[in-house]
Amino acid sequence: LYAKTLSDIENKSDLNAFVHVTRDGDQRAVESHKRLQDGTQRPLEGIPIAVKDNFCTKGVPTTCASKMLQNFVPVYDATVVERLKAAGAIIIGKTNLDEFAMGSGTVDSIFGPTKNVWRSKPNQWHIAGGSSGGSCVAVASGMCVAALGSDTGGSIRNPASYCGVVGYKPSYGLLSRHGLIPLVNSMDVPGIAAKTVEDVVTVLSVLIGPDANDSTCVDTNLDTNSFQTNFLIDKCRIGIPEEYNCEGLSNEVKETWDYIANLINDSKGAVQKVSMPHTSVSIATYSVLNACEVASNMSRYTGLFYGYRSTDDHKSFESLISTSRMEALGEVVRSRILSGNFFLLRSNYEKYFMQSLKVRRLISDDFKNLWKSNYDFLVTPTTLSTAPLLSEFKSLDNRTQCATQDYCTQPANMTGCPAITIPVKLSSNKMPISIQIMASNFDDIRLLQFANWLE
Ligand code: GLN
Repeated sequence: LYAKTLSDIENKSDLNAFVHVTRDGDQRAVESHKRLQDGTQRPLEGIPIAVKDNFCTKGVPTTCASKMLQNFVPVYDATVVERLKAAGAIIIGKTNLDEFAMGSGTVDSIFGPTKNVWRSKPNQWHIAGGSSGGSCVAVASGMCVAALGSDTGGSIRNPASYCGVVGYKPSYGLLSRHGLIPLVNSMDVPGIAAKTVEDVVTVLSVLIGPDANDSTCVDTNLDTNSFQTNFLIDKCRIGIPEEYNCEGLSNEVKETWDYIANLINDSKGAVQKVSMPHTSVSIATYSVLNACEVASNMSRYTGLFYGYRSTDDHKSFESLISTSRMEALGEVVRSRILSGNFFLLRSNYEKYFMQSLKVRRLISDDFKNLWKSNYDFLVTPTTLSTAPLLSEFKSLDNRTQCATQDYCTQPANMTGCPAITIPVKLSSNKMPISIQIMASNFDDIRLLQFANWLE
């Protein structure tokens, strides 16, 4: 499997899914082979898994697809990477993303865009979605069995939907963020892309558990074995939030959504229309909070301790820092830093940051009210359309790209609930259409059971 994976990666290099292939798997593959023979195999023995290039990997470059970290080699593994390795997985390589995971297309990378494996016509490239586009293309094209991505506003679910694979965003706090280079600390989660829900659960089972290095990662006692217990759809109450039927939703996605609602209804699940009145302000609120946390997080990249440093002859300390940042960070990243610092100015803090936190609470309350009214799941589209053409997408600015791409995915990050996207069918131009399911915080196993039932 390992050897096949390596040759697949080489043969499909035009997709640009990987930014670095770790050749040190050979020795691990030999060890796995031995363990499989003598019966001492671990849960993921010898399974090739790809990791998005914003997770720290010991001794392996971790670039965030940015010139700033182009030569950065961490001295430690992210907790989730460490746990994958301990379970016998072979970390096959690092996958492409939008710079520092800011984006929804995997087009804004120093390594160039990742291409979707699905094509509506020969030589017509569609975006992979993002920012975990490399991970989802790696899975969709069979280059690896599963991949890690990250999800702050939809970055695992959006590309999974466009690439026709399963993409799971766990509850905030279920998996450790230690070693995941932060975008928005209050929303970031490691995510899993795989071909089936069952594969997602297998990977999840080795990642779950508290971590002394991440105080937001809690001990939930969640048991992945309960995934195997009987799932009864006729005991479930499912909400269809009408606000997700928004401007820009394509007819084919809407039809797929209706088809799934009818399917559940026919199987005696109780499907009802519900309202989540604050959905439409979620994107604007997210943009402010995202920029604020970005501005704070990115302040560590000064060029002094690590990362890119400008080689000009600098007259001042300030000039060294600002030139290094100017030269090494892309336009999207710089514009978020700028707006974040603007929102955080003493004169603006109440008006923008505090106000957005209050609206975040209202968005989160929309979810909580439904869970309190005994709804088990929400079913929505994942993306408003199928994957746009690369050329079409690149003609839009990053704000416009994210505003439409993240509409359905990003509210889940506001409240921290688990969400999953599963592929349903192909559109008339043969591109994947998927559906999203959400459940209440830490009801991850039932969410996965429901997704498995639908699959
Ligand atoms: N598109 C969103 C953004 O750029 C979400 C990114 C993510 O989930 N990493 O902020």
